[in-house]
Amino acid sequence: MTPAPGPHDPQSPGFATRAIHAGQDPDPLTGAVAVPIYQTSTFAQDEVGQPRAGYDYSRAGNPTRTALEQALAALEGGRSGFAFASGMAAADTYIRAALRPGDHLILPDDAYGGTFRLVDKICVPWGLTYSTVSLGDLAAVRAAIRPTTKVIWCETPTNPLLGIADIAALAEIAHESGAKLLVDNTFASPYLQQPLALGADVVLHSTTKYVGGHSDVIGGALIVDDPELAEALAFHSKSMGAVPGPVDAWLTLRGVKTLAVRMDRHCDNAERVVELLVGHPRVARVYYPGLPAHPGHAIAARQMRRSGGMVSFSVVGGQEEALKVCRRTQLFTLGESLGGVESLIEHPGLMTHASVAGSALQVPDDLIRLSVGIEDADDLLADLRDALD
Ligand SMILES: *Cc1c(COP(=O)(O)O)cnc(C)c1O
Repeated sequence: MTPAPGPHDPQSPGFATRAIHAGQDPDPLTGAVAVPIYQTSTFAQDEVGQPRAGYDYSRAGNPTRTALEQALAALEGGRSGFAFASGMAAADTYIRAALRPGDHLILPDDAYGGTFRLVDKICVPWGLTYSTVSLGDLAAVRAAIRPTTKVIWCETPTNPLLGIADIAALAEIAHESGAKLLVDNTFASPYLQQPLALGADVVLHSTTKYVGGHSDVIGGALIVDDPELAEALAFHSKSMGAVPGPVDAWLTLRGVKTLAVRMDRHCDNAERVVELLVGHPRVARVYYPGLPAHPGHAIAARQMRRSGGMVSFSVVGGQEEALKVCRRTQLFTLGESLGGVESLIEHPGLMTHASVAGSALQVPDDLIRLSVGIEDADDLLADLRDALD
C-alpha cells in the first residue's frame, strides 16, 4: 500500500509534473535521479523483525515497485496504488479481495475478452455469478442489479467499437444499491480520463498498453481511495503474489514519465487519421468518440480530455477488402495489443475478437482496428492511403 498525495487535491501539481516526480524523488543514498532497479528478493534487518525501510521481502514490497505504485496513484488522483504482473493479475486480485462466492458482478457485454474469460471460466467455478449488459443502456444496468450485486465493471472507450459509457451515471447507479464501480481505464489512460474524480471506486489498468507505452513489458495496476479496500488489496497481493519484478516495474515507470506527451501525440495523429478515413471513398464507417456523429460523443467530451489513439473503421467490400488493407500497410504493423509508440493494425474479427465469433459479441467482419502510434502523421496517412487504394 502506497500513500499518495491527497485525492483530487487542487493543490497538487499538474499531470505531467506528477508523471515525472510523484514517487520518484532522487535516491536518498546516492542521489540517483532515476529510481534504481532494486533487484533483490530480500532485505537485511537491523534487529529481529525490524526491516530498515519497511521492506522485508520483494513479494510484499520492493522500492522500485513502490515508486511505480505512488506515481500511478498520483496520476489517477487516488490514495493507494498497486502494481501487478499483468492487467489480468490486477483484475483477479481485485475480484478475490472485494468479492466472495455468491456475489454478483455486472460486466459490459463487450468486455475485454480476457476479463470475460477470467470471470466466466475461473471466477464462476469459484462461486461468483455475473450478468452482461450494455453499459450504454442505463435502464438495463439498473434492471441487472440484484441484492447480491457488488460491482459494476466498466470499460470506456470499449474495444473495438469505441463505445462510451457514462462513468458518473454508472457510479450513481452502483452507489444507490450499495455496489461499487470499477473502471478499466486502459484505453483512455489517466491522462485522458480520471474515473475516481467522476465517482468510480476502483481504477484498473493494463499498464502493458498506454501507461507502459513501448510494447516492451506486461503489467497491471489498481488504484483506489478506500483505505479498507486498500488493506484488502495489499493483503491479497502479498498472498496471491502476482506482482511485477523490479525490472518490469522500472520499465513501466519509465513509460509513465512521458505519458502526457505521448498521449497528446497519439490523439493528434488519431485525429489526422480519422480525418483521412472519414473522407475516403473506400471507408464505410469510422468509429471514433471525437466525431460529433459518434453516439457517445457528448459524454466523451464531458469525461475525457481528448478522444484517444484508438480508431476503428469498416471498409467498403466486406471482410476480403478489410484483410487486404491489413496485409498492405507497411508502417502500421499487423499485430494485437495497443497503446505503444508504434502504430498497429488488426482485424478484430479474426484476431483479438476471434473467440467471440458466433456470439452476441461478434464484431463486424469488415472492421479494422488501429492503434495509432506517435510516428510522423504524414507518414501514417501515406501508409493508409496506399493500403486503401
Ligand atoms: C490488455 C487489456 C487487459 C489485460 O491486460 P494484460 O496486461 O494483457 O493482462 C485488460 N483490459 C483491457 C481493456 C485491455 O486492453
